Amino acid sequence: MSRDPGASTPCRVAVVGGGIIGLAIAAELLCRGADVTVHDPAPAGTDGAWHVAAGMLAPGGESAFEYPHLTRLLEAGHELWPRFVAGLGDVGYDRAGTLSLALTADDVAEAAREWKHQRLTPLTGSQVRDLEPAISPRVRAGAFAAAEHQVDPRRIVAALRDRLRGRIVPRRIADLSELDAGGTPAATSTVAGRAGGGFDVIVVAAGHHTGALTGLPIRPVKGQVLRLRGDPGLLEHVIDGAADGRHVYLVPRADGEVVVGATQEERADRAPTAGGVHDLLRAALDLVPGLAEHELTEVAVGHRPGTPDNAPILGFLDDDRRIVVAAGHFRNGILLTPITARLVADLVLTGSADPILDAFAPGRFR
Ligand SMILES: Cc1cc2nc3c(=O)[nH]c(=O)nc-3n(C[C@H](O)[C@H](O)[C@H](O)COP(=O)(O)OP(=O)(O)OC[C@H]3O[C@@H](n4cnc5c(N)ncnc54)[C@H](O)[C@@H]3O)c2cc1C
Repeated sequence: MSRDPGASTPCRVAVVGGGIIGLAIAAELLCRGADVTVHDPAPAGTDGAWHVAAGMLAPGGESAFEYPHLTRLLEAGHELWPRFVAGLGDVGYDRAGTLSLALTADDVAEAAREWKHQRLTPLTGSQVRDLEPAISPRVRAGAFAAAEHQVDPRRIVAALRDRLRGRIVPRRIADLSELDAGGTPAATSTVAGRAGGGFDVIVVAAGHHTGALTGLPIRPVKGQVLRLRGDPGLLEHVIDGAADGRHVYLVPRADGEVVVGATQEERADRAPTAGGVHDLLRAALDLVPGLAEHELTEVAVGHRPGTPDNAPILGFLDDDRRIVVAAGHFRNGILLTPITARLVADLVLTGSADPILDAFAPGRFR
């Protein structure tokens, strides 16, 4: 069955992948009247990049430097957050802002280029410590990015799962044809009944696994992340810094947890390494010595869904306009969750794409 562009129909949609992107798309579709099911091997599991992600909402991040279309998408996505979280309860959305720090003279020289690009005003070490007293006296300079916020991805996923209760099918999809079994809609009174064929549209949102399902160039990019815990209030802002060439970010939650991230490695394994943990802790303690008293509560590994141009892949995969891809969000999948949900739901329900999606179509890799 092919679909008419512009046709607005209530439809039956299968979403492959119950990570943060798949769940947000499904919740948006449900809210707009579609009959949606999410297919994921572990509906209550933690096997997604969202589970390790720090949740920084940083549209000025480095990956946007060389790609203006991505900058536009990140900025547009950032604006949707207040509305997106409004209906989700307390998901740790925090707008205190981000302090960028540089420890040594070399770190300052490198950071200054980024601060200039982002039009941030450089601060001296003592100005930085006025804003955040726990910063080391060795930190030479910094800059304050008021618009870079944070959220807790684990709480977002919990809230979205709650909204989609009864619509998440525990199933790994090995081949998309499994969802296309003959066109007779299965009975939908039970979760198991929803696993059959007859879907009008299939949305593939399986993170880095989307490559195997679609043939698109999406690869796993390993990241190691630590979680520390101490008395709440050591840090007020997100810290994004460099210490002797080691980059680290520290994301403080209201309950005393501090997320320390992250390595970036072209690897697919799930093993934390001594070197990775050492580099993160060393940079974190160089910038904020008081973290030495915190408990190390978690060492985790996740895989960003990377693409050749570091930008997501969003759009129809096939000429029949039945398969939509929503993957490859790389380092910005949390930030891009609300805008992906909105744009993909528009695409599914109307068959036509917002022009902002032109630069992200799967066809750019054919
Ligand atoms: C270390 C690290 C730190 C990060 N920090 C940030 C940050 O601060 N800010 C930010 O914006 N982004 C961040 N990201 C990126 C962000 O986490 C990802 O871009 C985002 O999680 C991608 O979401 P997703 O739903 O596409 O994929 P995932 O979150 O990986 O979810 C994929 C889902 O698909 C399911 N699945 C896989 N295969 C199949 C199959 N065959 N059939 C059915 N289901 C399947 C999996 O079980 C999983 O539930 C970070 C990522 C990492 C690794």
